[in-house]
Amino acid sequence: MRIDLHGGFGEKGRTSVGIASGGKSILLDAGIKVGATGREYYPAIDDAAIAGLDAVFISHAHEDHIGGLAWLLSRGFHGRIFMTAETSAEAAAMLGQYGEREHMQAFAIAAQSAELFSAGDIIDLGGMSVSTGRSGHVAGGVWFAANDGMKSVVYTADVVPDSAVLAMDPIPHCDLLVLDASYGDDAVASNERIAAIRQWIAARPDGCLLPVPLSGKPLELMAILPERFAIHGSMREPVAAQIAAKGAFRAGVDAMLTERLTNALDWSEFDSLPDCPLMTFDGMGSAGPSVEAIGRAADQGYPILLTGHIPPNTPAAELFGTKRAEWIRLPTHPTRQGNVAIWEGAGRPATLGHSCSLTSLSALKQYLPALDDTARTGGHIEI
Ligand SMILES: [Zn+2]
Repeated sequence: MRIDLHGGFGEKGRTSVGIASGGKSILLDAGIKVGATGREYYPAIDDAAIAGLDAVFISHAHEDHIGGLAWLLSRGFHGRIFMTAETSAEAAAMLGQYGEREHMQAFAIAAQSAELFSAGDIIDLGGMSVSTGRSGHVAGGVWFAANDGMKSVVYTADVVPDSAVLAMDPIPHCDLLVLDASYGDDAVASNERIAAIRQWIAARPDGCLLPVPLSGKPLELMAILPERFAIHGSMREPVAAQIAAKGAFRAGVDAMLTERLTNALDWSEFDSLPDCPLMTFDGMGSAGPSVEAIGRAADQGYPILLTGHIPPNTPAAELFGTKRAEWIRLPTHPTRQGNVAIWEGAGRPATLGHSCSLTSLSALKQYLPALDDTARTGGHIEI
C-alpha cells in the first residue's frame, strides 16, 4: 500500500492524502491553504495522478479539507466522489468562498453525481474498502480507514475526542495512523479553555465579536455562551441543518442547541454591533459576514475574540498582530492526551500527523514515540 502526502504535512492547510493499492487509487480530502498563493494553495498532486484516481472522499466541508475539490475536477479528475449529506449541503457555499470561479462549473456538474454515505458505512471499491466513523468535529464529519485486505491505514481528518457536543466513534486498529496534529503538544484540557472563554465574555457585558467557521465551532460555542447572544442572520439556516444531523450529537445536546438557536438574536450589517456576544463566519475574516463585522469591530474598539487557527496573511492575523483582537483556543481538534489515547486505541501503530508545522510535530513526538516528525507534503511512504 502506497500513501502519498499531497498536502497538510509540515504545514496547516491543503490537507490531502493519496492511497494506492490493489489496482485502486483514492484521494482522502482535497483542501486549500488559506494565506498561500499560486500552486501552494492546492494539494501537491500532479495531473497524471489526478487522472488515475478512482475516487475522492471528503471528510467535512472546512476549506482546508474540501476547498480544492472544484480545482481537482478542473484538472481532469473523473472518478467517483464520496461525502456525507451534511458535507454535500455545505460544499457549494464553501467552494464559492475559497474556490476559483472558473472551476465552479466543473463542480456544479460533478456534484450531481456525488455519492452520499453516512458515518459508519463501509464503501467497497473492489480491491480496497473504506470504513468511516463520526469525527466529533462537525455534524456529518467523518474519519476514514482504508483497507486492501492486507494492510490498513486510518486518516482521522479533523477529530474531537472530547467534544461536549458532538460524538466521535473510536478509531479502529490499523498499520498506519494519520493523526490530526493541529494542536501539536497542547495539553490544556477542553474544560479549562471553555472556562477561560466564558470568563472573557462575561468581562465584556457591552458585547463582543466571535468570528467562527460556519460548521462545527458555532455548535460548540452556542453550548457555552450566556443566555443572550446574537448570530449573523445568514447562519440560522445552516446551523439549524447541522443540529438536524441524525445521530451526530451526544445525548440531549441537539434539543438544547435547537432551543438556544431559536432564542438567538438575528444580526445583520444594517444593525449596530449588539450589546451581547455576536457570532459571524468565517473565523479568519477572509470570507462571509466576518469580513465586514471584523472591520467595523476593529474601528469601533468593539472586543474581538478569535478561537481558532489564525493563518498568516488574513484579517484575523493582522488584528491579532496589532492587539485589536484576542485569542483563546476553543478546542475543536485533539489535545496531546487525546491524540495519545487515539494512538493507543489504534494499537500503537506507526503514525504521521497532519495540519501542523514540523516544530509542533517534534514537540508531540516527545509523548508519541511512533510519530514520524519528518514527513512533509510531497513525500510518500509504503506499508
Ligand atoms: Zn475542520
